[in-house]
Amino acid sequence: MRESVPLDSSSAIILSQEPDVVIVGAGSAGIGAARRLLASGLTVTVLEARNRIGGRTVTRSFKGHPVDLGAHWLHAGPINPLVKLGFERGEPLRRAPTEGHFYVRGKPGSRAQSVALDRAFAMADRAMTQAAKAREDQPAAKSLPPGMGPLGHRVSDIHGLVSGRPLDEVSLHDFPSMEYADNLFIAGGLGDYVGRLGKDLPIRLNAAVHAIDWSGQGVQVDSSVGTLRAKAAIVTTPMTVLQADAIRFAPALPDEVREAIHGFTRGVYEHVILHWPDAPFKGPDRLATLIGTHRSPPGLLTRIDNTPFHFFELDQPHAMHFDRRDVHAPARFAREILTEHFGHRALRNLSVMHATTWRNDPWSRASWAVIPPGLAPIRDSLKAPVAGRIWFAGEALSRTQWGTAGGAWEEGERAAGEIAERLKASR
Ligand SMILES: Cc1cc2nc3c(=O)[nH]c(=O)nc-3n(C[C@H](O)[C@H](O)[C@H](O)COP(=O)(O)OP(=O)(O)OC[C@H]3O[C@@H](n4cnc5c(N)ncnc54)[C@H](O)[C@@H]3O)c2cc1C
Repeated sequence: MRESVPLDSSSAIILSQEPDVVIVGAGSAGIGAARRLLASGLTVTVLEARNRIGGRTVTRSFKGHPVDLGAHWLHAGPINPLVKLGFERGEPLRRAPTEGHFYVRGKPGSRAQSVALDRAFAMADRAMTQAAKAREDQPAAKSLPPGMGPLGHRVSDIHGLVSGRPLDEVSLHDFPSMEYADNLFIAGGLGDYVGRLGKDLPIRLNAAVHAIDWSGQGVQVDSSVGTLRAKAAIVTTPMTVLQADAIRFAPALPDEVREAIHGFTRGVYEHVILHWPDAPFKGPDRLATLIGTHRSPPGLLTRIDNTPFHFFELDQPHAMHFDRRDVHAPARFAREILTEHFGHRALRNLSVMHATTWRNDPWSRASWAVIPPGLAPIRDSLKAPVAGRIWFAGEALSRTQWGTAGGAWEEGERAAGEIAERLKASR
């Protein structure tokens, strides 16, 4: 070994300088992978570019309340590994309410209006699930049925928000594979939960990986804190970071792997965090739909964890529009729209605490990876290891939980399990 990785002086954890496996990135995928490898008796070093772990899950305190800046929902409860593990550990999980708020021009909507919205969602889901069975892929927007009424736009906008791009830029074959049912939340924030799972793991912070050489036996990983050698590497950096060539591979990755990496588009979803004690919404953790005026919030989650905090969500077109404007533009936008619905007086004690910019963070460059029409197979094509030494993992590879912390964890565990099997067999 030419150089060694210094031990992390801030912690008592000993970092192996020649571990069995190097993991790039300490988000959900990296933490899930590290725990799985350590449980198999292998040695691991995790290199993390940021000065904290958790990646796109992180919880910050505002006015003494924990608020997630990234992932917040535990989606797909029955298949989400973070839910299963959370119940085993006795973590403070709670079911997300299925009922939400429905307002028309600032007043609670009628039962008939709310039923019409539910019906429009059900029609869209049925049509998309049906259309996705056809061999030929197409933009998901093309399969939205006619006749959904004026609420059709709302349905399309919400699906675009949770997809990370407008539906005409999303693969129909990929879209309905996502499982969204049976969601949960966790008291104290999802970021803090993932942080607890990463505690005491052999992680080196402020360690940006810039090259992986797999020309010889095993891998040589060059980072800002030195060079490591290992039998295998798991790369969990977001696809958008790999697209920017943040990590140079020598030799170059096979064409089909490069094409898969470059096939994804940037999914964008950002939180504008509101502190609004007098908000009209009652009950914790409910989604609110506001219609009937010129504009609507792309998404709104109210009274998070029964606090005065709310997420005003930005979809990709809105968030990208703000890139060309001043930093206060998202806050002004949230205020303008809520004023259109509830009037100035209702917003007297509303403060905008923060607006996230994951799309411009050099270590994420997006909120998650999106599959454009025609490229649905690329999630799976990244699962095969390169030369039995480099595995990719992370949210982008998950078929049924893409774009989620649970999907990232699942993929980290999958890669780790495969490496453990392979190294055991070669002993
Ligand atoms: C605003 C927002 C809201 C979201 N809401 C939800 C939600 O409610 N529920 C949900 O499940 N998911 C949600 N997501 C998505 C979820 O956060 C991600 O899918 C998941 O956290 C990704 O985990 P990962 O391990 O694949 O990647 P990451 O968490 O991004 O981890 C990758 C790690 O690699 C590090 N890294 C990058 N480059 C390098 C390098 N060169 N060298 C070393 N380290 C590097 C990064 O710093 C990072 O820590 C949301 C995301 C955003 C942004």
